[in-house]
Amino acid sequence: MNPKTEWSRTRRDLFLKCPRAWYLRYGHSMSSSDVNEFQSSRRPWDLMLRSMKEILIERLEDLREGKQWSPLLLKHQLKYSLQKQIKQSTHCVKKRYFEALLRYANQRFELLWRCRIIRQLEQRKYPCWYVLDRTESVPIGTRRIYASPDLAVLIQNRWHLVRFDMQSSPRRTTDEFEANAMVLWAKHHGGFPQRAYYYRLHTIGWWRGFWNIETFQPNEHSVKQCHKLLEYDCEAMLEIQRYANLNLALLPLAKSKNTCRSCSFRERCPGGEDLVTARQEQTLLELGYKSASSKT
Ligand code: SF4
Repeated sequence: MNPKTEWSRTRRDLFLKCPRAWYLRYGHSMSSSDVNEFQSSRRPWDLMLRSMKEILIERLEDLREGKQWSPLLLKHQLKYSLQKQIKQSTHCVKKRYFEALLRYANQRFELLWRCRIIRQLEQRKYPCWYVLDRTESVPIGTRRIYASPDLAVLIQNRWHLVRFDMQSSPRRTTDEFEANAMVLWAKHHGGFPQRAYYYRLHTIGWWRGFWNIETFQPNEHSVKQCHKLLEYDCEAMLEIQRYANLNLALLPLAKSKNTCRSCSFRERCPGGEDLVTARQEQTLLELGYKSASSKT
């Protein structure tokens, strides 16, 4: 098995939307210039979401140290972070659009700060809580799993693991499985309990004008099931890597052209221009490839 198989919700999402884009982003080692190109081609909207996340973590860390932010400081920090991100990108954002992005970010932030768990932390209701680093992975077998919650709050004898999604999607059946990955992460991280009973999971995500909160009570079965599905994902990713080694042109393309619209690889991908034609050409290529390999 490949020891480098890495799983995260972002990787999984991209893999399900377009295996080719997943391979180009995560399935092989990128040169540093490729990484820079990928980072700098992010859309201004995505940069706004990134800034929000960065500032949320900073503000929570300050809250933990007992420091409160004024609305003016929040506005300033958001503006500074967004300016920095846009400067590093290839996009030239007009002043009016920039201001609109800032307004969105401020408004979402204000609403987020009214969520119950954040209000309770502000009121110092719970003495034991941590802000965690989402980029910290844990090894599980031969996989590397990125599934850290953003917050871990001890309430009575249970750890409440909280994840914030700056842009969410409608409720899906896989939400619970993805939330259970936080328990797997915690169990392998050390310092957290091993039994699923001692956890409670919350995901707080922005969807259609609201911060939607989902809560799950994990159990031993749901965590085991999550581990199985995660293994299944990793195996499917490995399969695509093997396929790419045979012929990159045969990698499955996006399921929807919406994915191509925001894809950083669209310039060098046939699907980026015309997904339907690219799929037809790929089918012909695949047939040719299969008949050639059956003759050998
Ligand atoms: S342009 Fe479309 S098909 Fe090509 S890699 Fe991106 S998402 Fe996939």
